[in-house]
Amino acid sequence: MRSWLRDIADFFFPRTCRVCGKVLLHNEEYLCMQCMLDMPRTGFAMEQDNAMAQLFYGKLPVERATAYFYFTKGSDYRRLIHRIKYNGEKECGYYLGKMMARELFSAGFFKGVDYIVPVPLHRSKERKRGYNQSEWIAQGIADEAGIELCADALVCRTHRDSQTQKGIYDRYLATREAFELLPNTPLVGAHVLLVDDVVTTGATLLACGEAFVKGGARQVSMATLAAAK
Ligand SMILES: [Zn+2]
Repeated sequence: MRSWLRDIADFFFPRTCRVCGKVLLHNEEYLCMQCMLDMPRTGFAMEQDNAMAQLFYGKLPVERATAYFYFTKGSDYRRLIHRIKYNGEKECGYYLGKMMARELFSAGFFKGVDYIVPVPLHRSKERKRGYNQSEWIAQGIADEAGIELCADALVCRTHRDSQTQKGIYDRYLATREAFELLPNTPLVGAHVLLVDDVVTTGATLLACGEAFVKGGARQVSMATLAAAK
């Protein structure tokens, strides 16, 4: 936006920080400078054997794994994820994807990555929400890193809300079989960077990663905006 236009818009409709609620300054976007500085970074990108990579040990060969920041229950940064996921603030997800990519770039995280793929939502869920938050985050990363986004090759077959009645083991099996890499996509033989909003147990990322391997992808890396702590 042109700078004088933004000044006028800010005067009538003040933009506020999505974490602390303070009115943003002219040069700030979505988060104020202080909340950007206070963000509890994981530092995973600088460490090969980090806690997120360890979630997949013995289960799936993962090239690199990282999350931008930690969230804990009830924290302001958890509310930030909630806004991106449920409150329609997808552009904020895109912006944070770009911010994360800047740090990852300097850490050499994108070396050899051919495609960026968001974790898909089940079609009915995406229709209800109107967007896939992971796709907006992934698009931000893709634009900043200059790597192509591929959002239609990995599909989600199972509606996860319909699993709430099932036991833990059945749910685990259903998650494992929920994702499928479509045949004849450019992802065959490629190094794929899988992107999601958060990582908790890693079950969803694992299921997607297994679908990549089964479908013929060469290497899998993972990046999420936030990691549970
Ligand atoms: Zn703030």
